[in-house]
Amino acid sequence: MTVRVRFAPSPTGFFHIGSARTALFNWLYARHTGGKFILRIEDTDKERNSEAFLKVILDSMHWLGMDWDEGPNVGGNYGPYFQSQRTDFYRQKLQELAAKGRAYEKDGAWWLRLEGARSKVFDDHLGREIEKVEAAPMVLDDLIRGRVERAEDRDFVIFRSNGEPVFHFVNVVDDIAMQITHVIRGEDHLSNTSKHLEIFKAFGVTPPAYAHIPLILKTDGPGKMSKRDRGALIEEYQQRRYLPGAVRNYLCLLGWTPANGQEVLPIEEIIRQFELKDIHQSNARFDERKMAHINTQTLRHLPRETFVSLAQPILKSAQVIDDQVTTERLNEVFAIVQEKVNSLEHLPEFVSYFFTDQFTKDPAALANLTKKGGDPAARLCEILPALETCAWTETDLDAAFTATGLAHQRKATDYFAPVRYAVSGQGGGAHLLGILRLLGQAKVLARLRAF
Ligand code: GLU
Repeated sequence: MTVRVRFAPSPTGFFHIGSARTALFNWLYARHTGGKFILRIEDTDKERNSEAFLKVILDSMHWLGMDWDEGPNVGGNYGPYFQSQRTDFYRQKLQELAAKGRAYEKDGAWWLRLEGARSKVFDDHLGREIEKVEAAPMVLDDLIRGRVERAEDRDFVIFRSNGEPVFHFVNVVDDIAMQITHVIRGEDHLSNTSKHLEIFKAFGVTPPAYAHIPLILKTDGPGKMSKRDRGALIEEYQQRRYLPGAVRNYLCLLGWTPANGQEVLPIEEIIRQFELKDIHQSNARFDERKMAHINTQTLRHLPRETFVSLAQPILKSAQVIDDQVTTERLNEVFAIVQEKVNSLEHLPEFVSYFFTDQFTKDPAALANLTKKGGDPAARLCEILPALETCAWTETDLDAAFTATGLAHQRKATDYFAPVRYAVSGQGGGAHLLGILRLLGQAKVLARLRAF
């Protein structure tokens, strides 16, 4: 059996991490099993769907590297993949149920008829008499939640009086038509599943396997992560120049843990390991710091050429470099800086001192220099003569710091922070002697004197 899974978004809002994670788990399972990943757009609700939201979903999926085997722009043998284009098919399927006596019309709407003994009861909530059905409970052996039993107790609408089919109906009809073998979706749909199983039963079709994945909780507190929470939208990470691979890596960890506990790992390895049975039952908690950490780790381990090809346009658009700055120069700089970079978002401020004298200065770093009676200007005056006459290799520079320390009865390291601040405006960063070597003697002396 070839695995066929689908991601079935309704384009009624921005693409948030919960949806992205559902898409990702489907994609991972398809790639792990050599199956097919189908993208089906559930856009039957005309009022709430928009082209703009659809575009955000497709763009975000591309950005995260989730390619689909069937769906919009790709086609496939089971299309169309937009539910809004399948209305005739849904009507035909409705007629099929009506012919079997499993659907009937009442008050302009079409209802699914449950099987079981019927009785009239007064519903306090609705304030009128309704018909209850003693239907057999639907038993679901969920691949994550285990056994779940639930009985529907009254007929339910599958086609509205305005002629629009109901979500439960089209969802199941398409899972049948598209030969879906596994439904992997958010736990918020668990309570719908008994209705879905009733519809499968009405068609006489064996349902697919189900795997309901746990919720994502917000960073603090008991609530579910909502679209309005900070960090909830995939677009945000795109704008903040996160690496898509790092975001994807983090999303994989929301409800799943790699075998050996190593959390930053290549997607090929995640695909190799990914099994539905290993998805957690308990809810996952969103942790933006962890996502940032994974992004930083991924960034620092990129091959140098890849890093430089990402950095170059960012530095250009921030006007930190112009066309005069060569790729060789960037390679030299990032040979010492890449392992200290935290994010691409803040890269321009972090490296501006290599390329311009108008570099960013960190006030906190300056405050550190003068605290406890520190006198950075005096230290720079002491070291200047040694640097003026120094041969410009890291070995010679190192010797100049040592000699100055000896001459003034100080540690060589007393000179590091003032020199670092004067040439880079920062309190930390790449190896200092490397920075001095790359800046060159003239620039370094000018900046020390300027301070
Ligand atoms: N359109 C539904 C949603 O966005 C799909 C549910 C499902 O995957 O079955 O939640």
